[in-house]
Order: sequence, then C-alpha cells, then structure tokens
Amino acid sequence: MSPDRTELIQRQSPLLAGGGALVVYAMFIASSYDQRLLTISGIYVIMVLGYQFIFGHAGALSLAQGAFFGVGAYVTGILGSQLGAGFLATFPASIAIAAGLALIVGIPVLRLASHYFALATLALSQLLLLLAINWEPVTGGANGLPGVPPIQIGDLRIDRGVPQLAFVWGLAGVAILIASRQLRPIRVAMFTVMRESPLAVPAFGIDAGLLRLRAFLLSAAFGGAAGALFVHTNRVVSPETLGFGTMVTCLTMTVVGGRFRISGAIIGALLLTHLPEWFRGFDEYYLVMVGVLLLAMVIFVPDGLASFLKDSSWAGQIRTRARPAEPTDVLDAAKPTLNITNVSKRYGGIQALDRVGMSIETGEIVGLIGPNGAGKTTLANIITGIDRADSGSSKSAHIDLAAATPTAIARNGIARTFQTPQLPNELTVRTAIEVAAANNGGHCLTDTVITSCQLINILDAPCGTLPHGVRRRVEIARALAGQPHLLILDEPAAGLAPDEQTVVAEILRAHAAKGLAILVIDHNIDFLQPLATRLACLDSGRLIADGSVADVLADDAVLTAYFGILRQ
Ligand code: ATP
Repeated sequence: MSPDRTELIQRQSPLLAGGGALVVYAMFIASSYDQRLLTISGIYVIMVLGYQFIFGHAGALSLAQGAFFGVGAYVTGILGSQLGAGFLATFPASIAIAAGLALIVGIPVLRLASHYFALATLALSQLLLLLAINWEPVTGGANGLPGVPPIQIGDLRIDRGVPQLAFVWGLAGVAILIASRQLRPIRVAMFTVMRESPLAVPAFGIDAGLLRLRAFLLSAAFGGAAGALFVHTNRVVSPETLGFGTMVTCLTMTVVGGRFRISGAIIGALLLTHLPEWFRGFDEYYLVMVGVLLLAMVIFVPDGLASFLKDSSWAGQIRTRARPAEPTDVLDAAKPTLNITNVSKRYGGIQALDRVGMSIETGEIVGLIGPNGAGKTTLANIITGIDRADSGSSKSAHIDLAAATPTAIARNGIARTFQTPQLPNELTVRTAIEVAAANNGGHCLTDTVITSCQLINILDAPCGTLPHGVRRRVEIARALAGQPHLLILDEPAAGLAPDEQTVVAEILRAHAAKGLAILVIDHNIDFLQPLATRLACLDSGRLIADGSVADVLADDAVLTAYFGILRQ
C-alpha cells in the first residue's frame, strides 16, 4: 500500500471506526424504530453536505436549503403518486429541478449583500410553501399527497428496515464522495480566499460569482436528493417538508457538526436526529435543554464537533500539486504593458483623477508619488478593474481594461498588491501562492517566485502567523506567481524596517530585469529613489510630473505639492 493511502486511512481511522460501530449497531442492536432514525439521519447527511457548500465554504447564509429539500420531496411525491413514475425517473428529476430552481434564483440573488441574500432565500422558501398549500390539484394542498411508492429499481424493491437503511447510507456515501471531489484542496483554498479576503479575490484570479453559483447549485442538488429520499421513507409529502422547520434543522445540524468538514455533516445529522429521543424524558423541558445545548455549542465550539477530529476530513487537507518542469522564467520582452490616456474619475464632489495619461514599458519600474488623496490608489483600482473610470481609455496587452472584469485583468497578466496585505490567515504560504499561480496561469514559476521572495523556510506557515514584513513578501510572491507582465504595488514599503525594504527592492529589481513592468505607489522617497527607473507625481487627481527620478524630484510643482517646498 502506498504511503499516501496508509496516511489517508490513518487520518480517517476515527471515522472508519465510528462507521464500523454504526453498522454493527444498525444490523444487530437497533430496533426497527432506531433503524428508521438512522435512515432519516442518512438523508439529513446528504442535505447538510449540500448546505456546507453554500453556508460553510461560500460563507453565504442561504435560508433556502429547506426549500430545495421540499422541492425534491414534492417532485418525487407528485411524479411518484400522481403519475406513477419510478425512482430512476423521480430521483434525478428531483435533483435537476431543485438545481434548476437554484440556477434561476441564484443568478440575481447571489449578487446581493449577505443579509439581503438571506432574506431573498427566505422569501423563496415562503413562496414555495404558499404554492404547495394553495396549488391543491397538484400538490394536495395543506394535506399533502399520500401514496408515494417505495423505492423500486427494476424488480428490486427497497423495503423499510435494513434495505432502506443500507440504500440511503449507500447514497450518503456517494454524496460524500462527490463532496470530497468537489472540495479539492485548490477549491477549498479559493473558498477560503472568498470568505476571508474578498478584496483580493480577483487578484487571486478567482471568479467569485461562478464559485458562489457552483456552491449554491450543489447545495440545491444535494437538498433535492435528500428531499426525494425523505418522501420515499415517509410515503407522503406534505407542506411541512418545505416549512421553516426543515431549514432550522439543517442549519442546526451544520452548526453543531461543523460547517467545513464532511465528518461534520455526519456528526450533526446523527446527533440532531437522535437528540429528541435522548431528551424525551425531560418532557416539557426538552426544548429548553436543546436550546441550552445549542447555545453552548455556538459559544464554546464555534467550528462544530468535527473540529475535535483533527485532520479528519479530506476537505481540510490542503495539499500542493506537483509542478511541471520550468521552461523559462524570463518574460517576453515584446509583451506590451500599460497605456492610459485621459483617465478621469469623480467621487461625488471629489475629482480623484483628472485626465491622467501614462504608459509603462517592459522592464520599467515607475514610482508613483503624490500627497494623501492625490488619486494614486484610485489609479491602481482603475487599472486593475476594481473601479471604473468615468472617461478615458486604459489598455494593456490584448485587453481593454475599462471593459474587462478584475478577474480577467488579473488572469491577463496584471497583478497587484494592496496597502494592507490581503491574505487569508489560515492559508499556508505555499497554498496562497499556488492558488494564484493555478488561477492566473503561472504554474511554471511557483518555485522561482518562492525562492526569489525568500519564502522557502516558511512555506507551511499559515499566513496569519507571519509578521507584517513577511506577509508583504508573501503577497508580492502571490502577485508574481501568475507570471504577470505588469505588477502594481500599493505602498509596499509601508511598515517595513529598512532591511526589509531593501529585500523588497531587490525582489522587484530582479523581476524587472527579466522584463516585468512595475508601478510602485509609495510615499517613501528613500525607498523609491534608488529603485525607480522613472517617477510620476499626482496632485489632486492630475499628473503634474512624469520623467527621470532626478528631474521629477527637482520639479517645482512636485516640490510645492508634495514636499511643501516652494523654490525662491
Ligand atoms: P493615500 O496616499 O492617502 O492612499 P491616494 O493618493 O491613494 O491617497 P486615493 O485613495 O486614490 O488617494 O483617493 C483620491 C481621492 O478620492 C480622495 O479624496 C479620496 O477620499 C477619494 N476617494 C477614493 N475612493 C473613494 C470612494 N470609493 N468613494 C468616495 N471617495 C473616494
């Protein structure tokens, strides 16, 4: 057996042992009622696995998981009881219709800010509930539809008890495999960037809209599958499946088990299905007991019970991929860089940029100076697509920057760093660099970048544990990893000690020598003077100087605006 496989089995041993114990319990000890509870648990595992995508990984509070569960239930209920369709038709239909609904709803709704998104998904649930109650000829109204057939595949009928239990957990196993494939380390890392460093999402080459939509579709598909299985066990579909209760159950299971780990879905579903039985003796105090338990969980174990199982999930393991051999690390000298003409930008009464024109050639290091509020960051934001100019044109290589999305701009070789390094705390240095390299097409350069930014000894350190100066270098490495032809740095020397500034300057010089065009925004003239090959100065949104370092530093307008010195 390969060491990798042995390690995987060792890591999964608590889960495997727990699974084995459950099988023995289900087969030999459990009563038929206990078996039914275990079957329901398996169904909820599928629903919670789906919910983890949107609520956990994508970090969006969707209140529609109960609705997708209900849609799956009603599709199977209606097709099965009214039209006599079999499981092989109703089950895929339940998944497809729930996912289709998520696609229709998701495109407009996923753009909303978090609390509006929650409200919109809640509204969807309420709408579907009203539809189920009022569309009586099809849905059976408030009484629902009885007579949903049992699961039947060809001549094989899956009866209640052990067959149904085994079938449901078999499908839960398939759902676990699909989830673990979807949660490849690179994608988990992309979700982490999206949750923790939203400003830097385009810089990592991540298409946040697509990633969030994928999570929403997966949550709906898993929810629909769970709902379909649920009506087969109940043999009746009623508006309760669409009710808010199902959503609360799902949310509670996810919070108690854990939002991120596959084992969390299993623990949460098993525990919350059995808890009412264990607390039955408390009679009217039962709900109080459950409430106290949940509160304690949220306060003391915010990442859920699965967080006690160290390294117990495939999803938690962020591993790096082998890189192909390095062909070259020298940029194509013929690559065009940046050309800006007459760019203006106004924020209300403030003219942040006023007809700014500038171009940057291959291998140049242009220092951009100017007093606070001069428009330097605005210019960087417009070049990288984070903000749009009111007028003027900005072009680079083959793309019109005014029309391209920030992610497309990053993927087309324009990298940037931020005034405050934007790195998710829990990502390791290597993973942060790898994610940017993988998304921005710079696979071959990773090792060179790691070496040139002097990060070789801290590759496995989480970014959150690093001092400011090192984080700055990691961010520069993240930017370089996509093999850009233009790099924009927003105050890279801020907060760095003189020796750290020297290291940053050396890194930039080395990459410029290979053809990289660099725009460095900074206030620190001691840092810029020996580094820049050219200086430009902005004042109140206007470019007041652009030329050699010596000329710009001696320019009267620059001296007046920036240094407050007026020559006599
Ligand atoms: P600093 O050196 O302090 O970072 P800067 O030269 O980078 O300053 P900008 O951040 O580009 O300046 O700001 C230029 C002007 O535009 C400022 O007056 C600022 O308040 C304003 N501004 C920038 N972004 C916005 C915004 N999103 N909304 C409103 N005003 C803004």
